[in-house]
Amino acid sequence: MPLKRSLSETLSIYSSVHFPWSSKKTTKHRHRVVVGVGGNVGDVKRRFEHLFFELQRDKRVALTQTSLILKNPPFGFMEQEDFLNTIIVLKTSMNANCFLAYLMRLEKKFGRKRSFANAPRTLDLDIIFFDSLVMNTDKLTLPHPAWMERESVLIPLSGLHL
Ligand code: ADP
Ligand code: MG
Repeated sequence: MPLKRSLSETLSIYSSVHFPWSSKKTTKHRHRVVVGVGGNVGDVKRRFEHLFFELQRDKRVALTQTSLILKNPPFGFMEQEDFLNTIIVLKTSMNANCFLAYLMRLEKKFGRKRSFANAPRTLDLDIIFFDSLVMNTDKLTLPHPAWMERESVLIPLSGLHL
């Protein structure tokens, strides 16, 4: 994977075929969603490309932008591989709860097994923003509660036009 830049001893930025990427197509879907994407098991970059194609051929969503890929160390549980993180911006007409369920089905499809908090994962899909919706239920907090504190979100986000 082509290394673009080393930001610090532990952080580096990579690009890939569809990361970063943007589309000029217009869409009728109602909501704009910023999705945080991460993983640290197996060939994560290949999985990101595979996810891109899955989303691109799904009429229920319309991709608008993707960010660069950030490689960064794990937090919480340290004895695991570094993470790759990226951001996908898309439009959808699903409501926020349906969209969360949709993301969780995608995680499953890409082989995610839930074990413990901050455990290694093939694919983690989080909703960072859903339009400007603010909510806090057992299942869903919006905006994502940790987005402001995480380099894994802030650095990829900083390169996007929102
Ligand atoms: P994390 O992403 O924090 O490492 P998980 O991916 O295992 O952890 O998610 C745990 C739970 O977080 C999910 O079951 C989901 O219901 C909840 N959750 C709350 N807010 C959000 C959000 N904005 N995006 C994704 N999941 C969320
Ligand atoms: Mg998650």
